[in-house]
Amino acid sequence: LAKQQGRNRVAAYSTEQARAIAHRVAITARMRDALDHGHFHFHLQPLVAAATGHITGAEALLRWTSPDMGVVSPADFISVAEETGFIVPLGDWVLHAVLALQAQWMREFGGARPISVNVSAVQLRRPTFEDDIRKALRLAGVPAEQLKLEITESAIMEDTPNLVAMLRRVRDSGVRISLDDFGTGYSSLALLRHLPIDEIKIDRVFVAGAMEDAYAATLCRAIITMSRELRFAVVAEGVETAEQAAFLRDAGCDTLQGFFYSRAVAPPDFRQFLLAGAPLR
Ligand code: C2E
Ligand code: MG
Ligand code: MG
Ligand code: MG
Repeated sequence: LAKQQGRNRVAAYSTEQARAIAHRVAITARMRDALDHGHFHFHLQPLVAAATGHITGAEALLRWTSPDMGVVSPADFISVAEETGFIVPLGDWVLHAVLALQAQWMREFGGARPISVNVSAVQLRRPTFEDDIRKALRLAGVPAEQLKLEITESAIMEDTPNLVAMLRRVRDSGVRISLDDFGTGYSSLALLRHLPIDEIKIDRVFVAGAMEDAYAATLCRAIITMSRELRFAVVAEGVETAEQAAFLRDAGCDTLQGFFYSRAVAPPDFRQFLLAGAPLR
């Protein structure tokens, strides 16, 4: 019977659904091939101190350069990788690659800036997540404090058993936790207080909106004020203009990230920023 139901279910798929599945399978096969052939890279986007423009850290952002498709945006492959589970080996690769670079820069610069790595809900759900992080740090010989994990608000709100307790242990080991895309999910402010996080990243829709309408500006200020009162660091992402930077600085946001300062750049270019040691604006 189960087999028959299974067959019926398959038969019930529309051609459109079938095409979508075929697309995901094909993309995943290409991603697996790309990972084997070194076609994934990560770029680094500086995080700067709002007050001075000096670099305080960086966010690692995946890039896929395919010989036949050209540059593929994370927006086009991360969700597929999450659906098919490929985000697990891919996320592992990013973590190891970032930590290897961090180890190199610690030797070169004697203490580097923390690098933030995005972590998907799919990775968080794995029982080995905590152990994988510890092992990766140990293998690279990088202190936990040099790693920051960006977890989206929606991922942390998922009803995964023991997720918060697990994150608390990770954070207790020294790894910093950042709540990404804040404001786009529906977390209660009361709950926020109990989360093991160091930092809140205001989603760029609020930053963009703050210049357009008074309500968005008020919301943006409120998030910053609330975060500061809860003793979280506040980062604004998607800062594109001097006007936005000034608004956020005045509102009390400590750290800014966005095209106004720099796009995500290849690691050798980021290293040049570190060598120069100059403010980005
Ligand atoms: P995110 O973590 O919220 O990263 C910020 C995104 O905003 C990046 O897009 C960045 O390039 C872009 N951005 C930064 N400044 C500006 C700005 O001033 N204006 C505008 N319009 N955009 C700006 P990107 O690199 O395309 O990445 C998109 C998303 O893909 C990321 O959003 C993140 O959710 C995901 N992603 C990227 N790399 C990884 C990864 O290694 N692992 C996982 N799980 N997800 C990743
Ligand atoms: Mg992020
Ligand atoms: Mg973000
Ligand atoms: Mg975002």
